[in-house]
Amino acid sequence: MFPNHLRRRAARAPAPKPARQRGGGGAFMGRFLGLVVALFLSLFAGSVLLPGIPSQYNILAELDPEAPPSPLTRFKVMRATATPEGCLAMLERIDDIRYARLLDRQVSDSCHITGHVQLRGLSGASMAPVSTTCETALRLYLWERHSLQPAARDILGQGARALEHQSSYNCRRIRTDRGEGAEMSSHATASAIDIKGVILESGRHLTVQEGWRGQDPQQRAFWRALRDGACRWFGTVLGPDFNQAHADHFHMGQDRYGACR
Ligand SMILES: [Zn+2]
Repeated sequence: MFPNHLRRRAARAPAPKPARQRGGGGAFMGRFLGLVVALFLSLFAGSVLLPGIPSQYNILAELDPEAPPSPLTRFKVMRATATPEGCLAMLERIDDIRYARLLDRQVSDSCHITGHVQLRGLSGASMAPVSTTCETALRLYLWERHSLQPAARDILGQGARALEHQSSYNCRRIRTDRGEGAEMSSHATASAIDIKGVILESGRHLTVQEGWRGQDPQQRAFWRALRDGACRWFGTVLGPDFNQAHADHFHMGQDRYGACR
């Protein structure tokens, strides 16, 4: 692998010195905590001392849904959606989202929509009206604006004008390949939405069902970019790679299992 002269030099190199005895786990924890504190102090100092810093890099500034995502965005979304009221106030400040505020829906302890909205359109893509929570609407908006539209333009050369969904609220148990599970689905609280297709500006119609494993490499790349993008905005994203029950749609939900398949 190495030329001979390098190999000879490598052979003459002294053996590395044994690592110095390090402190125990306590010393490691101390260093780790020091690093975390230093990181927070520098972020805080940066936020306070540099008022011109873009809001997405300012830990004190609230989420700007139109700003490009930064490493702080996930935290800002969590903070913006901590209460339904806070989320609804955030939604009101977004110019290009189309929705109507509805009365909360309380069917039972496990089936309800809190922070109820009817969502009709995102930054560029319209959709059939869907009854959902403010948090699902906000996360879907962020995904559409920062993941779907850029992927459509970069990979397919045009934006998306419509998004096809399979509803958000559904008072039911989770579905598995073996039938119905024991737990309630996150759809029972409209904390998830199922996405099955996209219509591009040209009118071209794309579906998860046909595109995910289809012959067209661009479409395959497009749907994978949408799935990976969704994992940035939602806690759980399940698609055709997860199981047969998701062969024709992406499930995008807030539950924090962290699955991204
Ligand atoms: Zn679902």
